Amino acid sequence: MTAEQHRTLKALLTGKFCYADCICACRLLADAFDFLDFNYLGNSIMGHSIPLFTVGRGEKEIVYVGTHHGAERITGGLLLYFLAEFCSAAKGRRGICGVSPEYILHTRKLHVLPMLNVDGADIAACGAPKDHLLTPRLLAMCKDGDFSHWQANARGVDLNHNYNAGFDAYRAAFPNYDETGGAPSRYAGLSPESEPETAAMAGFLRYRTPCALLTLHTQGREIYSTSGGKCPRQSPAAAKKLADLTGYALKTPVGAAAYGGLTDYCITALNLPAFTVECGKGQNPLPHTDLLSIYAEIRTALFVFPTLF
Ligand SMILES: [Zn+2]
Repeated sequence: MTAEQHRTLKALLTGKFCYADCICACRLLADAFDFLDFNYLGNSIMGHSIPLFTVGRGEKEIVYVGTHHGAERITGGLLLYFLAEFCSAAKGRRGICGVSPEYILHTRKLHVLPMLNVDGADIAACGAPKDHLLTPRLLAMCKDGDFSHWQANARGVDLNHNYNAGFDAYRAAFPNYDETGGAPSRYAGLSPESEPETAAMAGFLRYRTPCALLTLHTQGREIYSTSGGKCPRQSPAAAKKLADLTGYALKTPVGAAAYGGLTDYCITALNLPAFTVECGKGQNPLPHTDLLSIYAEIRTALFVFPTLF
């Protein structure tokens, strides 16, 4: 990656980081590293393509997912910055954070999804689209007209409550979220995987059968690795390592956070070691200008993660 490309990447990731910025950053990475496979997972409810990178030729597959929540799209910036560093080190045959990216590429296959909720990210960055079928519904769901805290997708479904893991229990336990029929956050939808984004994500995992998944959110400096007290055999040791490397606290999900998330689905339905990392500390949305300081907290953990499985 040239110095100019790196400057452009940093400006995109630390700026507004709307959907168009994310795709610009993805194209930049794809241009800079020819061994990086840039593709799409599928389409959002508004028809936007969900970017997906795959790199490596090993059998063990590892998945990184960012931006389930629109106002947390800095997590996409964190993953793209990681991917750029990973690919630069692999290209230069350099070790980094105690691991060899070259070795990882030989023995693992990494899938990186920086922005699953592409519509929600764009709505949080730019407000409701000007002229779309969903615009009146979006405006009705956001009473004060301030979309900067928007977390759901463009239909008002919180994607991280839309997976098939404790779905009915969540709707019964939190009827006030259910009654909204669509909201800036926490509305689970009518059925699991009702949204194209979650259906594509869950379908991808069932098809690829990876051996571990890491999903980034903000904020709290916390790590979750269990669901309903359960976790796969390999999870406790890996969670402890991630906690040691980040200095983040290992926590047990409680309340609304304990149902319907991707980590819950991976653990309970797929027996797949999965980890939610709540990056940084502050109020969402965390300022994008803090990207590099938050990245410094999780950097080593991102590099070491594939070697734990
Ligand atoms: Zn989140």
